[in-house]
Amino acid sequence: MSMRDRNAWLKGGHSQCNERPASPLRRVRFVLLGAPGVGKGTQADLLARYFGACHLSTGDIFRAARAMNGSASRALQAALEFMKRGDLVPDETVLALVAERIGCLRCQGGFLLDGFPRTVAQAEALDVLLAGHQLQLDAAVSYELPLNKIVARLAGRRTCSACKKVYHLDQVGESEACVNCGGKLIQREDDRPESIRVRMKAFRQAAQPLAAYYESRHLLVSVPAEGAPEAVLQRTLDSLRIHS
Ligand code: AMP
Repeated sequence: MSMRDRNAWLKGGHSQCNERPASPLRRVRFVLLGAPGVGKGTQADLLARYFGACHLSTGDIFRAARAMNGSASRALQAALEFMKRGDLVPDETVLALVAERIGCLRCQGGFLLDGFPRTVAQAEALDVLLAGHQLQLDAAVSYELPLNKIVARLAGRRTCSACKKVYHLDQVGESEACVNCGGKLIQREDDRPESIRVRMKAFRQAAQPLAAYYESRHLLVSVPAEGAPEAVLQRTLDSLRIHS
């Protein structure tokens, strides 16, 4: 299946997606957990294609707001300052953004939430939001990787400034151009060493309680994130007992 445009998610407000989702054979509503750099975004894209669901990343909302160069709302501008330092954006701001996008959670195509929830307070608020619309999560998939591998992945991550394709320095060497479209490869501001340290600290503080929250609800599915993206996808489907 092709990727969806996610216009309603990225822009919020009255924005609509440019295409209606096809009715999927199997509609999934997953939360994806795991440290920054563990490959959640890549898995979210692969799972989105596999299931025809929408990849909903809260980080992408902030990056889309940053690309608006100052025309984002004041609350979003303030959030971008947290993001720049590598800090978590306050729950209140994130929850307001997600609540405003409830249409995306209700979408008949299903969803893969990536980067949200990040705290137990966010997870509780998500449950309340979903319950208010008679929706339920199917699983919280937690991607696991040793810390030293995560830091190496983050520090070497480069993103195409045009098409947003993500690379690792190992793949591109000295090249500064995207193989896909020729766009300039850039390092995310929050992938610099000083921000990585802050992000990993924030992640470690929140990760255990969040995993315990979903474990207690019998939704947690842990997946080792080592290896090629396609291998991790297959492992994910196996862990969810979904057979292609
Ligand atoms: P990500 O792309 O998920 O790594 O998010 C990039 C940055 O956006 C994070 O380091 C935070 O500053 C901010 N952010 C994204 N999602 C959340 C969230 N659920 N709660 C708080 N901050 C968030």
